[in-house]
Amino acid sequence: MDTKSLIELQKKQIMMHRTVYVLFCFLRIALQFLNREIQVKNTVIIVGFVVVCVILEEFFYRYDYMRKLSVAQATRYIQCIIAALILCFVQNNDPSTVSVVALLTMFLVDYFLTMGITDKESLATYMIYVGIPILVVLVYKVSSSTANEWIFMFFDMIVLLVVLFFEALAFVSYMRNMDTMIFTQRHEMDDIAEQNENILQMQDKLKSTNDALTLQKIELQTANKQIKMANKEMLAQAEILHYIAMSFDVSKISNQITDAIMQVKKLGFCAVYIKKGVYLNKYANYVIKTDIGLLQGKIRESMEDVYLEMTAEGQLEAVYHEDVREEFPFLKEVRINSVYVKVLGMDNDTYGLFMIGDSRPGLFSDNMSFYDAIIAQFDIAINNAKIYNEMQHMARKDGLTGINNRIYFTQLFKETVDKIKNSNGCVSVALFDIDKFKNVNDTYGHLAGDEVIKRIASVTEDHIDKYNGFVCRYGGEEFVAVLPGRKLEVAQPIIEELFEELCRQVVHYNEYEIHMSVSIGLTAYPEVCKDTDELLKRADWCMYYAKEHGRHQINVDDGSVERM
Ligand code: GH3
Ligand code: MG
Ligand code: MG
Repeated sequence: MDTKSLIELQKKQIMMHRTVYVLFCFLRIALQFLNREIQVKNTVIIVGFVVVCVILEEFFYRYDYMRKLSVAQATRYIQCIIAALILCFVQNNDPSTVSVVALLTMFLVDYFLTMGITDKESLATYMIYVGIPILVVLVYKVSSSTANEWIFMFFDMIVLLVVLFFEALAFVSYMRNMDTMIFTQRHEMDDIAEQNENILQMQDKLKSTNDALTLQKIELQTANKQIKMANKEMLAQAEILHYIAMSFDVSKISNQITDAIMQVKKLGFCAVYIKKGVYLNKYANYVIKTDIGLLQGKIRESMEDVYLEMTAEGQLEAVYHEDVREEFPFLKEVRINSVYVKVLGMDNDTYGLFMIGDSRPGLFSDNMSFYDAIIAQFDIAINNAKIYNEMQHMARKDGLTGINNRIYFTQLFKETVDKIKNSNGCVSVALFDIDKFKNVNDTYGHLAGDEVIKRIASVTEDHIDKYNGFVCRYGGEEFVAVLPGRKLEVAQPIIEELFEELCRQVVHYNEYEIHMSVSIGLTAYPEVCKDTDELLKRADWCMYYAKEHGRHQINVDDGSVERM
């Protein structure tokens, strides 16, 4: 038993002692009144001893002296000795003898408990400490007594001590076993608690590691997604670069770029508008990709206005989220929640509009580098197309009039004729020359003459374009008009109409009004001209015929004309 438990036990015993003392005193005083033979002196000694015990114990209890084991041990020892001494003074015939013996027994038990005996040797030692004074007292008592009862009492005491000794021995070994058990259990419990603590700590560590791993997993998944997306974007950009390098056809490039964007970003729509004339294009160019029905037409209708509005306000890009529907009412019905618009080109040199939208809300606020890169590539594509078209224009067009030059015409004419021959088609060719043009130059000067040539060219081109034909400046003031797929009887009124229109022209130059007239030769394959190689030659012959027969007329080939 450890010190703490011993002290606790002592405290409990003091409580028990109080009851015993009260009962003892009450019995002794009651006995005194009932039996007059009992000496008052004995009663006083016994009650006095008990009162001293009570006072001492209460004092110790109150002021916590019992905390000190040595005090408790000394007290119990002294109580044993005094109880033995009282036994000497109590007369042999006093009935309280038994009570005093009982008291002595109680103190003895307390004494052995207080000593915290843990082995047989110390038990024997403490037995000797307490046994010898008691034996001395008893021997004295027996020797000073005549009564036989004391002999019995003596043996009784000896038996009591022996019994007490063996009981104490049994108690000691029991307590020791209990202590060892409790100690081992405590140790085991401590170990288990420690293990438990370790397990809990491990669990915590595992949990935090698990959390960190989950977080890392999520981060890795996100990074993986981002890498995949970046990869897709890079591939798309590489593809776009490839198209740009391969082609100068803006419509084709726009188509491929918008397709690539739709494929990578899976948007609701993607649209590009390029205004007329940017790369010498005659008409504005629209490419609109969407799976949403009706949206294509509505975007097409609004793109030019959006472009004009933004450029007028000097706004180069805009993102719309909540305000999408206010800005673009036609998106009301199609659940488009995010829109991005960007004016293409530089501040003062804008050329079109890029517009994307999707049902996902909050898009296009960040991570726009993919679109920026594509738009930059688009700028390059447009610039390339512009340069290419200008170069081509320079190579194909006549410098003064802007219509096809003779070199390009030769190529175009050959292609057309080949096609017609392969498809058993027909073609009409008109060749004409301005009448008395030298006079214009001589009268009004070469610059005035240039203006006349330009007018003739543009009127001719506009007219022939309407009939899907093409024209060229064949020589100084000579022109050719080709009408593929037109028989002579169809071509003739078209050329007559042109003739009249040309002859109606008045060129204003300085204060002069210059009027003009032309002579036209018209032929057609296969009706009158059987060989396509002869088309230009025969048209020329017809034109010369007209010149030689008064000018200002159309001479239609009847198959009989020949070079004169
Ligand atoms: P004809 O009715 O017989 O055709 O008479 P013509 O005076 O028109 O004679 P011709 O066709 O032989 O003369 C062509 C003239 O056109 C000669 C040349 O000075 C002039 N000419 C050719 N090219 C140009 C040009 O680019 N600008 C100007 N101003 N004159 C040109
Ligand atoms: Mg002429
Ligand atoms: Mg001429």
